[in-house]
Amino acid sequence: MYEKIGPIEIFGDNSSKVPFCTTLLLTNNRESILLDCGAGFDSLAHIKKTYDVDKIYLTHHHIDHMWGVSHFPEAKVHINPLDFEKVSDLMAISHADGMLAVLEEETFQLWLKQQENRRFGDIAVGKRTLRPDGNYPMDELIEIAGVDVRFIHAPGHSEGYTIPYIEKYGVAYIGDIDLTSFGPFYNELEADIDDFIASAKKVLDLDVAHIVTGHHKGIVSKQEYKEKIVDYLNIIEMRHEQIAHHIRNGISPAALPEQGIFYRKEQLVGSPLRRKSEIIGIYKHLERLSHEGGVSVRFIEEYIQQHIARQEYLNYGQ
Ligand SMILES: [Zn+2]
Repeated sequence: MYEKIGPIEIFGDNSSKVPFCTTLLLTNNRESILLDCGAGFDSLAHIKKTYDVDKIYLTHHHIDHMWGVSHFPEAKVHINPLDFEKVSDLMAISHADGMLAVLEEETFQLWLKQQENRRFGDIAVGKRTLRPDGNYPMDELIEIAGVDVRFIHAPGHSEGYTIPYIEKYGVAYIGDIDLTSFGPFYNELEADIDDFIASAKKVLDLDVAHIVTGHHKGIVSKQEYKEKIVDYLNIIEMRHEQIAHHIRNGISPAALPEQGIFYRKEQLVGSPLRRKSEIIGIYKHLERLSHEGGVSVRFIEEYIQQHIARQEYLNYGQ
């Protein structure tokens, strides 16, 4: 994908499918700046050849949004304040994403080793951590390459998630509120279902013409977003109802992650990351369900017993 809106260039190889993500370039005669950095090898090579990238602003710490930073060693990297310390610390990341809680010590150590060179299938995308140079204030105007950008705090997908909003050109980069058929991703301990919904709805308050998604769906108008966000958020309720239905039918806590709520059973084989995401995603729904009186404390306790190897890491930020 390549699009240009005013001075904003928008890149994404292979429709920005994971491990790539849509990446924005803002440039004037003084500086060239990237918003997120995972457009794909071809796009990043093109950007590197054409511009001297001065700074990179990251919406959040996930690897698909930042793996390309190592391609621009001269650039100063800025990230949201909540991810500033986390992104350089593999243990902090693993606590936030739930790996530390779900995996047993031995598997966890193997996992840590793999983070030195993360792979998505055949594609090596480099180290999981980086050392940022600064953190930007959220919900304030920052001048980037001559345009005002506001990084709107939009938690849910992750606690520090931000939506860069460029009012002058009617552009909002909503990234991982990605409108894909998979549905919202909140399968990490630092994520929050209700915050995700609130953040997705907040986009409707913006004065925007071009809503740029992070993966696969490209750019949509506000009207399209208004329509698509309903089905997209509805996936949350469908998952919720599926889980509630299984519980009403007497499923055992042990069997719950094998029901294909997020990933099909065969997709979990050999992927500790997906297995973790299935377990944590369901756990988020169980917490929500427990507030509604739809699941017993005992069921949740047994679920934790069955699937969380190290319960001392299950609480995050509480
Ligand atoms: Zn993400």
